[in-house]
Amino acid sequence: MPPMKRFVTIVGVVAIVLAVTWFWLGHSKAPTTQQTATTTSPSSQQTSTKTTATFNKTRYSLTQPTSIWVIVNKQHPLQPKTYVPSDLVLPDVTQRVPGTTEMKLRKAAAVALEKMFAAAAKQNINLLVSTAYRGYSYQATLYNGYVARQGKAVADTQSARPGYSEHQTGWAVDIRAQSGKCPVEQCFGNLPEGKWLAANAYKYGFLLRYPEGKQKITGYEYEPWHFRYIGTYLSKEMHRTGTETMEEFFDVSGGTSY
Ligand SMILES: [Zn+2]
Repeated sequence: MPPMKRFVTIVGVVAIVLAVTWFWLGHSKAPTTQQTATTTSPSSQQTSTKTTATFNKTRYSLTQPTSIWVIVNKQHPLQPKTYVPSDLVLPDVTQRVPGTTEMKLRKAAAVALEKMFAAAAKQNINLLVSTAYRGYSYQATLYNGYVARQGKAVADTQSARPGYSEHQTGWAVDIRAQSGKCPVEQCFGNLPEGKWLAANAYKYGFLLRYPEGKQKITGYEYEPWHFRYIGTYLSKEMHRTGTETMEEFFDVSGGTSY
């Protein structure tokens, strides 16, 4: 082989070796990247599992009137005070005054209430809606009636001022026994209906909003008939941790004075 030809052959062979090496490296890099990705994903999954296990207290607003976690008490009126929910519906359950605005709830609460009443009925617990939604002007009429009859100081212990009632959110409902016993009275808590609700409401996203002995926190005496829809994410967490009030759970001010 002449020297020139030999040189070309060597260059050719080297070029082929280089090309093969480059090709092999290029392809062998891909699995390495995949390995890295595979190693990363279990750890990021672990992180997201941890996040899920930790309850997220900022998932919903505590101040927006439309929020399922909005806290309404004597320190925290609805903003604006004349707020009207946009999706009020009649729940398909037994109603004290069928078809009236007072029987309405916001859609999500109405659906949950239907499930809860149906589950109760299977255990011979027969419930009805006493009052659900109350608008600003209706609450004003109620409150002013109390003021006219008994004066402001007494009125404030018996009726919420307009703009300060949880019933105005469309998330609250007063429940009665179909038997008619203890209507909106504390003895409702001792009836099978009151006991069933106290024990099971959390499974459907409801909270006994004014429990016994928490007046200094909630601003209201024990109301075993008043339930507030907060969704199961929160109701189950409050049940799990044994926290009775929203004020305590979120560390938000409340109390009996405006
Ligand atoms: Zn109520």
